[in-house]
Amino acid sequence: MKRTLSLLLVLVLFCSAALPARAADDAPGVPARLTITLDPGHGGRSPGAVATQGGVTYIERDLCMKIANYLKEYLEEYPFVKVYLTHEDASGNPGLEERVQMASENGSDVLVSLHLNASNGSVSGSMVLVTIGTWDPLGLKPIEDALARSILGELNGQLGLPDRGLWLRRSEEEYYPNGKVADYYAIIRHGINYGVPSILIEHCFIDNARDRSLALSSEAGLRALAKADADGIAKYYGLQKTDYAAHPLRACVDHARERGWMNGYPDGSFQPDAALSRAMFAALLQRFDPPIPAPDSGDEAEEPVFSDVAPDDWFAENVLWAHSRGLIQGFPDGVFLPDAEITFEQMAAILARCLRAAETPDAEPLPADDADDTDADADTNTDADACDDDCGLTELSDWAREDAALCFRAGLFEGVFAPGTSARSAVTRAQLCAALCRLEQHFSPAAAEAEAGAAGAD
Ligand SMILES: [Zn+2]
Repeated sequence: MKRTLSLLLVLVLFCSAALPARAADDAPGVPARLTITLDPGHGGRSPGAVATQGGVTYIERDLCMKIANYLKEYLEEYPFVKVYLTHEDASGNPGLEERVQMASENGSDVLVSLHLNASNGSVSGSMVLVTIGTWDPLGLKPIEDALARSILGELNGQLGLPDRGLWLRRSEEEYYPNGKVADYYAIIRHGINYGVPSILIEHCFIDNARDRSLALSSEAGLRALAKADADGIAKYYGLQKTDYAAHPLRACVDHARERGWMNGYPDGSFQPDAALSRAMFAALLQRFDPPIPAPDSGDEAEEPVFSDVAPDDWFAENVLWAHSRGLIQGFPDGVFLPDAEITFEQMAAILARCLRAAETPDAEPLPADDADDTDADADTNTDADACDDDCGLTELSDWAREDAALCFRAGLFEGVFAPGTSARSAVTRAQLCAALCRLEQHFSPAAAEAEAGAAGAD
């Protein structure tokens, strides 16, 4: 039996590239990051359009700041979306070029300037300013046009604001480097100059009674405007909501998804609080790819396997990978229990093996427990006691004490679970993401830091 399995495994090893390793959460690739700069119109001593009705004064500057904050909130419900504002409150008033420059410097994919229109009181509806396209070396016009139409469609569909279309205006004195007449509106023109697609939404008319009652006379109306903007942006960029937007470990889940360790389910859900099987854990560990030496190729094919892992199981390759590197050992009776939920103490044992086996010059040295140096006995050493006191896990089995203590000292448990969690309870998907984030930080602190910086840690 064992011999046959080994032979089959050799076959699997040679054929593994052709076998579909279809894990339960194998959703397609790593999602793209989208960075958006929102520009609340006007600011400081420049109020923009102002209208008074029934003793209430409507000020474009203040209303646009509210819309911007609601819109930021809606957009940040999507994963991998980073939102900047050109100014954080209505007292700020950066120059128009400066606003576009900020968007360029923070790496924005798009700048959206938020405004309210004014006319003679009888005009109603939404319009979006985009480039005239006389100079467009980076091909921004198609992006601006399509994004603008998407937003106008939502403003019209959700609020009933008349769609007044795209608004193009030529300057009479500004020219682009190709000698052609430039865009009149500074935000649009500088967008072209800085290479950032930039549109300006005139949501509705502040001096029109119907528009005001539809969108401006209540917080609900302002939220509705922001929601329509957000939906228009989301549709254009194909953003997908998640089921973990409000989860405390969201940042780690996002990071794990960006790294491709864990992807979520084909229906778009992530199920952050669901448990993971031991088989899934092996798959994730291989995707995480800890910096530990591969076994000699000769040894790998001869590895003993578990009686409950068949060569054609989707996780067979992952289990073999982890076993051949000494990361998983299974149970004394030769089983792996692939479908059992992985527990905290099992995770601790495996991550501790990663820590000990790692070959990486950049890693922080393994934190030593001074008292441990002269005492190799796991049952009496102070690691175990320290973990009992500090690492937050209860009901820890004796065999896992040293491993849990090491993980704890290396910072892998930081913020991962609530104190008092049973070591024998199941790890959730989000908690494993968090532990892997910490493990990555341990292995390459500089890289993890740079990543956090790139993500804009504000
Ligand atoms: Zn304005």
